[in-house]
Amino acid sequence: MSPIEALQSRFYDLNALGTAQAVMDWDQQCYMPMGGASARSAQGGILARMHHELLAEESTGELIERAAEAAESEEDLALVRLCRRRRDKAICLPAALVEEKAVLSSEGHETWVRARRENRYALFAPSLRRMMDIKRQEADAFGWTDHRYDALIDLYEEGATKAGCEEMFGGLRGPLSDLAKEIGERPQPEDGFLHGGFAPAAQAAFTEMLVQSIGFSFERGRQDTAAHPFCTNFSVADVRLTTRYQDYIGSAIFGSLHEAGHGLYEQGSPMAWDRLPLAGGVSLGVHESQSRTWENIIGRSRPFWERFLPRLQEAFPLLASVGLDDFHRAINRVQPSLIRVEADEVTYNLHVLARFELECRLIEGSLDVDDLPEAWNALYEELLGIRPDSDANGCLQDVHWSAGLIGYFPTYSMGNLLSHQIWSLLASDLGDVDALMAEGRFEPILGWLQDRIYSKGSLIPPGELILRATGKPLGSEDYLAAMRSKYGALYGLA
Ligand code: ZN
Repeated sequence: MSPIEALQSRFYDLNALGTAQAVMDWDQQCYMPMGGASARSAQGGILARMHHELLAEESTGELIERAAEAAESEEDLALVRLCRRRRDKAICLPAALVEEKAVLSSEGHETWVRARRENRYALFAPSLRRMMDIKRQEADAFGWTDHRYDALIDLYEEGATKAGCEEMFGGLRGPLSDLAKEIGERPQPEDGFLHGGFAPAAQAAFTEMLVQSIGFSFERGRQDTAAHPFCTNFSVADVRLTTRYQDYIGSAIFGSLHEAGHGLYEQGSPMAWDRLPLAGGVSLGVHESQSRTWENIIGRSRPFWERFLPRLQEAFPLLASVGLDDFHRAINRVQPSLIRVEADEVTYNLHVLARFELECRLIEGSLDVDDLPEAWNALYEELLGIRPDSDANGCLQDVHWSAGLIGYFPTYSMGNLLSHQIWSLLASDLGDVDALMAEGRFEPILGWLQDRIYSKGSLIPPGELILRATGKPLGSEDYLAAMRSKYGALYGLA
């Protein structure tokens, strides 16, 4: 066995332990009865500890160093770099802390579900307090210079910092608030027809048709339902989407398209890299750029619905009399709302900004966990001009903090920005993309993304991938220009 093969073999073992956790987590969110919660947290905790111990083991370090000496190709060098990055992060953390966090995030998930359902923040607060404490210990173990938060966000977006996020949000806040305000002064389109009376089974069939049409393979994936939609994968050839069937038909449609965007990225990695750190999306920001591309740029475009509105009307005769322009305006209605996952493209980043500010303050300790609901509500009032009517529709709405995902939210905004930066180039390369979408020909679009982004897996670090794929570092100009132009036209702004 060559040193590279020996390293691969060790990471196949690690992948098996990690995938077992992922399968259990998928099951917990999609199918597991409440009664399974306590056994499942214990099992997940044990697997997390075993994974951590194997990764941190001296012999894994030796395998990495031997492979480093033998690596010559771009692929092998990247494999060594990725394995080393994972191990370097792991050896900072004591195994006990890893296990404690895994147990707490599993228990915390169940507590969060209950607290949200019963609208009782007090139920969830103790879990959140313990989680913040663990995350502070984690950040300190990784080490940081300017801010504790830097150590945490780097887990999701290599190289990202709190200061960088502040700069990004600083550039978005004014233009987005102004645009939302201008839109608020214009008449709103009718969208009542998007609510109510849509049978879940028909929603399932329609969304499966939709994601299959854009290129998601059901031979290498499936779609189930979850309270909080997500995408996970156990192999390049086994990618799981989730969605939810609600009163508002857009919830399933755009939830499915969003998760399918993540899924297409995962299915696009070279099969030869399967089960190795080389496979899969390179960072959460780049990942989110793909979900937002398929959900918003494509899925909320007029040409897309030129193709699919007749099929939607076939599935739901209730919508038979809705015209294309009315439908297009309705699915792009901009209105400050309480729920992030259902927010429009213009106000979405303001929801993320609120979470970023609050989690920074929670981590640095300047905001006490008990004061979170009030701080959340006040910030929503300031940024979006509306005050949550309950904690369930306020600070309890997202799953992230229950799982210890601190530093994760800003990657959503990075993804929004990047999706437009990538699309500008794709559109100029492919020519008439509107015609492609209207004809339901998604292969050239998927092919372009496959070539520039998906086929690269995690080969190239995110900053460099963005530079290579778009010719410039991540910026907000394409996104802001797209928002102005799209919503200026839809709302007849000056
Ligand atoms: Zn996403």
